[in-house]
Amino acid sequence: APGLYVVATPIGNLGDITLRAIAVLARADVVLCEDTRHSRTLLAHFAIGTPTRPYHEHNAAKERPRVLANLSEGKRIALISDAGTPLISDPGWKLVRDAIDAGHRVEALPGASAALTALAVGGLPTDAFLFAGFLPPKSAARRTRIAELAAAPATLVFFEAPSRVAEAVADLAAVLGPRPAALARELTKLHEEVRRAPLDQLAAELDGKTMKGEAVILVGPPLAADVSDEDIVGRLIPALGDMSL
Ligand code: SAM
Repeated sequence: APGLYVVATPIGNLGDITLRAIAVLARADVVLCEDTRHSRTLLAHFAIGTPTRPYHEHNAAKERPRVLANLSEGKRIALISDAGTPLISDPGWKLVRDAIDAGHRVEALPGASAALTALAVGGLPTDAFLFAGFLPPKSAARRTRIAELAAAPATLVFFEAPSRVAEAVADLAAVLGPRPAALARELTKLHEEVRRAPLDQLAAELDGKTMKGEAVILVGPPLAADVSDEDIVGRLIPALGDMSL
């Protein structure tokens, strides 16, 4: 049927694509890709010859009207990102919104996502989690953001670029204290590794090291001991003191 298909692709292991994803990508009129070169490798692996078109942060605003016009013509449009589920720290939500507003059919094909995969192996509570995407790249803004999330009664889930994992974990430890945490790297890949340790210990292990490979950082919910006001003030004030307020 015509419509917009939001299709999850693997986060490393190509075996994690679904049968339905292959069928929908093969039958689509066009596959919108974050990076067409990257995705053509994936499509070629499954012998999918569907034409591709770029849809990324930098051309999305210009591209959206064209996609909506294609949908009005009755086309089947698939949206994929470089890895995992589109829209999750990846482009697409405005396209989905506009397609819905215009009355088009929107269907999601579930599959891999690094956030849920990390939660599944992290060993931390999963009854409530707060997906917080990427933290700000600069330390002052990052600590402010972490302080905003400190009281959430949920496991915190962060994406991070390999080059910033160590400094992000250091800031998490500085603001949140020794909460249980997990660092999940290279999930579903050959060198998958999950480190589970309190934040301070994780920060000490990573200190001065540059991590390789993509990683998800998980931080357990506040410990009972964290709830005292003195404790929060005692930790947050020095952490906030680093900022030039
Ligand atoms: N939409 C994707 C998803 O659903 O998984 C996430 C895209 S986001 C731009 C990329 C981030 O996801 C990386 O920086 C990393 O934090 C995380 N990530 C992606 N693949 C991963 C993997 N195989 N192992 C660990 N983290 C991964």
